[in-house]
Amino acid sequence: MKAVRYIETGRPPEVVDIPTPAPGPGQILVKIGGAGVCHSDLHVLDHGIGMPGPFTLGHENAGWISALGAGVTGWKEGDPVAVYGPWGCGSCHHCQTSAENYCENHASIPTFGGGLGSDGGMADYMIVPSPRLLVPLGTLDPVKAAPLSDAALTPYHAIKAALPLLTPEATVLVLGIGGLGHMAVQILKAMTSARIIAGDIDETKLEHARELGADHVFNSGSNQAADHVRDLAGPRGITVALDFVGAQSTIDLCTQVVGRGSRIAVVGLAGGTLHYAANSPPYGTDVSIPYWGSRKELMEVIALAANGRISATVEAFPLDQAVDVYQRLREGRIRGRAVLKP
Ligand SMILES: [Zn+2]
Ligand SMILES: [Zn+2]
Repeated sequence: MKAVRYIETGRPPEVVDIPTPAPGPGQILVKIGGAGVCHSDLHVLDHGIGMPGPFTLGHENAGWISALGAGVTGWKEGDPVAVYGPWGCGSCHHCQTSAENYCENHASIPTFGGGLGSDGGMADYMIVPSPRLLVPLGTLDPVKAAPLSDAALTPYHAIKAALPLLTPEATVLVLGIGGLGHMAVQILKAMTSARIIAGDIDETKLEHARELGADHVFNSGSNQAADHVRDLAGPRGITVALDFVGAQSTIDLCTQVVGRGSRIAVVGLAGGTLHYAANSPPYGTDVSIPYWGSRKELMEVIALAANGRISATVEAFPLDQAVDVYQRLREGRIRGRAVLKP
C-alpha cells in the first residue's frame, strides 16, 4: 500500500510503497477514508519528537474497520470510525478517565500515537492497537470527519475548560485561523454567546473567520494590533485568549490584551515564551497549556458535527500529493484543513 513516511529530522516526507499490515491480537485494521494534515507534522519533520523514524505520518484519522484482530469484540467490519489520536498507556489515572492526552506514562511508552512515533493514517490502511482508541462516526463522511479528531478536538478541549468565563458579556480572542482556529470559531459559536475577535496575518483567513461567524477580525501582524483589540474589548479586556499560533508575537499580544481575572490558553507550538512580571499578565489570569483532548470530548465533538453545529472546511488531496500539500501548509496556502484521501 502507499504511505506518507517521516524518515528523519530535517528531511521532507516521502511517499513510498509498504506492505499492508495485518492486525495482531487485540488490534484493529482501519481502512483510511481521510487523514488530516496538521501543522504539528511540520514540527515533527523539522525538529523530530524524540522518536526514531521511519513511520507513517497522519495523527488525525477516520475511516472504516477493515479487519479485527483475535479477541476484538463489539465492532464489525465496515463500521465507520474516528481514531482517537493521543495513545496513552490505557491504565493510569488520566487514561482511565479517557484523557490519554495527559497519560502519566508518556515518557515510557513507545509512541505518542499513530503518526507520532508509530505508523499513522496517511496510508491506505492503519493499525489501531486497541479498540478503546476508536469512536463511532455514525453517518459522518470520514473525509470531512478526520479533522474532528485533532483540529476540532484540541480547541474543544481548550474552550470547554474556559466555559465558566465564556459568559454572554465576555470577549474571546482567537489567534490563528488555520485548521484549529477555524474550528475554534465554530465551537465558540455553538457553545457560547461570547463576542468573538479573530486575528491572523492573512486576509483570506480573516475573511474565513468572518464567514464562520467571528464578530470582529483584525490583522494580528499590525503594529496597532494590541491597541485595536483593547479598543474592541472595552474596559474589561479580553476574557479568554486562545493562541493557536504560539509565536512570541501572539503570546505577547495575548498578555497585552487580557483583562484581570481572565484566561490565556497557548495551544500553538511556534516556540514563543510567556513572560511573567507583576500584573503582566494581569492579576487573576489563568494560563493554560492544553494538549489535544480526551476520548470523551472527541465523542462530544463528533456529536456537534453530527448535529450540524460545526463543520471542517476541507481541501482534499490524493496521498501522492502529500509533499506538495505540506509545502502549501508551510506557506499558509490551505483554507481550513487539508485532508489526504487514499
Ligand atoms: Zn495535530
Ligand atoms: Zn496512561
